[in-house]
Amino acid sequence: MSDRYDVLIVGAGHGGAQAAIALRQNKFTGSIAIVGDEPELPYERPPLSKDYLAGDKTFERILIRPPAFWGERDVAMLTSRRVVAVEPQAHRVTTDDGTTIGYTYLIWATGGAPRRLTCAGHDLVGVHTVRTRADADRMRAEMAGVTHAVVIGGGYIGLEAAAVLAKFGKKVTVLEALDRVLARVAGEPLSRFYEAEHRAHGVDVRLNARVDCIVEQDGRAVGVRLADGEVLPAQMVIVGIGIIPAVQPLIAAGAEGGNGVAVDAQCRTSLPDIFAIGDCALHANRFAAGAQIRLESVQNANDQATTVARAITGNPVDYDAVPWFWSNQYDLRLQTVGLSIGFDEAIVRGDPATRSFSVVYLKDGRVLALDCVNATKDYVQGRALVLEGARPDPARLADPAIPLKQVLEPA
Ligand code: FAD
Repeated sequence: MSDRYDVLIVGAGHGGAQAAIALRQNKFTGSIAIVGDEPELPYERPPLSKDYLAGDKTFERILIRPPAFWGERDVAMLTSRRVVAVEPQAHRVTTDDGTTIGYTYLIWATGGAPRRLTCAGHDLVGVHTVRTRADADRMRAEMAGVTHAVVIGGGYIGLEAAAVLAKFGKKVTVLEALDRVLARVAGEPLSRFYEAEHRAHGVDVRLNARVDCIVEQDGRAVGVRLADGEVLPAQMVIVGIGIIPAVQPLIAAGAEGGNGVAVDAQCRTSLPDIFAIGDCALHANRFAAGAQIRLESVQNANDQATTVARAITGNPVDYDAVPWFWSNQYDLRLQTVGLSIGFDEAIVRGDPATRSFSVVYLKDGRVLALDCVNATKDYVQGRALVLEGARPDPARLADPAIPLKQVLEPA
């Protein structure tokens, strides 16, 4: 095995895999290796809280590429190895087995580690986070012995896991610390819709909930105690309260950043020949009015990977992709385009009672984003409105009989 590569990619997830794919697509002929701390070849993470958790998809079906692909593209896969230190001047990294690997370019694509609870019992058997295949497999292995489950955190991952557990007939409680679910990512109409849907499926959604501790018996979680003393029985506790970007070795090496590693428009960090992409990359995003943000989505990881491949192969282009995202819960497919950060008006298009509607987010009359529930046409046609920052007549926007592609036409 070579101990020096022209491009060394750290992290074998969505961004890391796509970076290697895009380099070869851009005719890069140098050597490429991906170092990843998981034992698997790159796989899709979204199914971990959806159809993989539900057992509807096998692991082979969620691989990003078939195993033979990487050899065919001459991409070395260094699995089960964690990069623990970076030496930017020497252009080399050290892995947890003490090996050093040199590089000409380094692409940091490490995602993040799930944020954990800090209360008593947070590390008991039966307390889960959902980030890796191993996490999902542990949950699946315990599923049969679970009658009651508590999900801590009413974000997308928590709600998706709750939907899977409810489908399996478990008695599920969702504990959300804020006064509505999805509060950080969506407007109130969408939050209220999803709360009602989960309740209609038998899920007990508790808002403004405060967790005191996880209750233990014989070394296992058996419940969750709330701050008011109530104990919710639970053989399974799922914690979905966000991630901490995995950037410590880069920051220790002197990279600018903190909550993520700061990158420029072509995903270059402040360190020479080191790029960062995906969940861990703190970047100025036009769709967030130029604010420095991290985006946790497959779209962002893939598009930033392609941006870096183009920079390395001498065909640079600034990262300027429209953000998009999806979430599946029950028979509801949510598709989001744009970022609703800072919106001052949310227009509901269609009747949520029909379970097919959209929420259009505006700021100063301009379309920022859309959340489309079982409304793919709105999602597809709304994209142009987000891209242009269009200013449609709100009355026309609110009328589902007018297709979004015609919403800018005179009445
Ligand atoms: P990752 O895909 O997380 O890959 C990072 C890899 O780097 C991991 O394998 C990690 O273990 C490894 N690593 C970390 N540190 C080191 C190190 N020091 N050395 C070596 N390896 C290291 N997005 C959507 O758009 N739609 C969805 O529906 C959706 N659902 C999701 C559901 C779940 C359960 C999860 C967890 C995420 C979901 N996401 C979804 C988010 C999406 O999966 C992420 O945005 C995407 O995976 C980010 O890609 P990445 O390459 O930045 O990080």
